[in-house]
Amino acid sequence: MFEFSPQAKMAEQVLRQFCEKEIRPVVRDLDEHRMPPYDLIRKLYDALGIRPMIRAQIEKMIERVENEGGGGELLGGGDPASGGGIDPMMAQIVMKELCRYAPGLALSFGASVGLCGGALLRKGTPEQLRRYAIDVMTFDKIGAWALTEPGAGSDAFGSMKTTARRDGGDWILNGSKTFITNAPYADVFVLYARVVGTGLDRDPIVAFILERGMEGLSTGEPMEKMGMRDSPTGEVFLDDCRVPRNALLGEKEDWGGHRDVKQNLSHERSGAPAMALGIIERCLEESVRYAKQRVQFGQPIADFQAVQHRIARMEIARENVFNLVLKSAWLEKEGKMNAKFACAAKLYSSEAATQVAGDAIMIFGGNGYMKEYPVEKLARDAKLLEIGAGVSEIQLSTIARELYKMYD
Ligand SMILES: Cc1cc2nc3c(=O)[nH]c(=O)nc-3n(C[C@H](O)[C@H](O)[C@H](O)COP(=O)(O)OP(=O)(O)OC[C@H]3O[C@@H](n4cnc5c(N)ncnc54)[C@H](O)[C@@H]3O)c2cc1C
Repeated sequence: MFEFSPQAKMAEQVLRQFCEKEIRPVVRDLDEHRMPPYDLIRKLYDALGIRPMIRAQIEKMIERVENEGGGGELLGGGDPASGGGIDPMMAQIVMKELCRYAPGLALSFGASVGLCGGALLRKGTPEQLRRYAIDVMTFDKIGAWALTEPGAGSDAFGSMKTTARRDGGDWILNGSKTFITNAPYADVFVLYARVVGTGLDRDPIVAFILERGMEGLSTGEPMEKMGMRDSPTGEVFLDDCRVPRNALLGEKEDWGGHRDVKQNLSHERSGAPAMALGIIERCLEESVRYAKQRVQFGQPIADFQAVQHRIARMEIARENVFNLVLKSAWLEKEGKMNAKFACAAKLYSSEAATQVAGDAIMIFGGNGYMKEYPVEKLARDAKLLEIGAGVSEIQLSTIARELYKMYD
């Protein structure tokens, strides 16, 4: 399988048409905060007509969980229902196509459906799936996934300060989260906290499902960013936020938060190649067109060997990242996604995207630095791929750790 299936190619075409018509004309408005991205994502759902299928898949999944007992974790990878009806290849193509125009849209979509929705699907009880997962996966509600804190980024577990303590049948949450995608507008939050007072050597980390409007929960204004400006990012504040027992994701006190976060991060990281590919494809295409028509020293700059080499290297990166997209989709479908691959694919593809977008700016020269040309935004947006879901140094450490487990 070294190319998209005929069905995936068709989806790619439909998405391209949608993005050309609906997103391209408003890219500057999105980038300058004149419009949040959510209505466009809902319009995309309408255009693809996927809501009824997603709803039906999750309902089927709930029925199965109810019949077999346990929580959503019964449905691991390999089961199409674990993606809420979204085929992994289709999800990659959506991310890729959005990233050709407005990577922030893909980031907001991915954080809501992939991170928040994915966490709900993997661990939620039938009641939680019914109450939250359907709406998040159909984008009727906006989701956020909140792990990072002002003092806890790369060391998200060890330095986490947000606490949860029992009070009768309820939980009381205190603390704050930062850099959370969609936080300023989210309806539903999957938020991680450290459980205090268990008497265990290490406080366990658990996830809660929180809703906007709960007393004690507030969010900040969208933060000003270098790139991904079409994706609102913000803080979440918890001030004696009292939530009922059933706000605990999965409702079981199995203290599996570390494992769940790692699983979620692997899925998030495995989406990075598709995002990178969208940026790379667009930068490459725009660069070739520009190089052929821009004349200097009496000839198109495309004739200069230095420009040809830059373009050839972009193509090499595109080919490699495309293969990572295909492998990611295959691993997700087979239920074989793993930390080593996800980190390697994320690191390689994110660095390739920033390199290619930087090269595109050089081919465009001064024009590349101007907002009038698309590569300026894509270069700013690409940088986030090296930071979100763990910085490159963390990917490298994880890859090494996984390798050390394999060989004595
Ligand atoms: C636009 C945006 C959206 C985001 N969305 C979300 C979201 O939806 N949910 C969420 O929970 N988080 C989100 N994040 C947070 C993101 O995951 C963190 O920013 C990221 O994990 C890095 O943490 P940090 O910013 O605290 O950097 P730090 O941990 O402070 O790291 C800074 C630098 O220190 C060095 N470093 C740190 N640790 C090590 C180490 N062990 N070895 C070697 N070097 C090291 C690296 O050079 C690193 O780049 C988002 C961030 C951004 C910018």
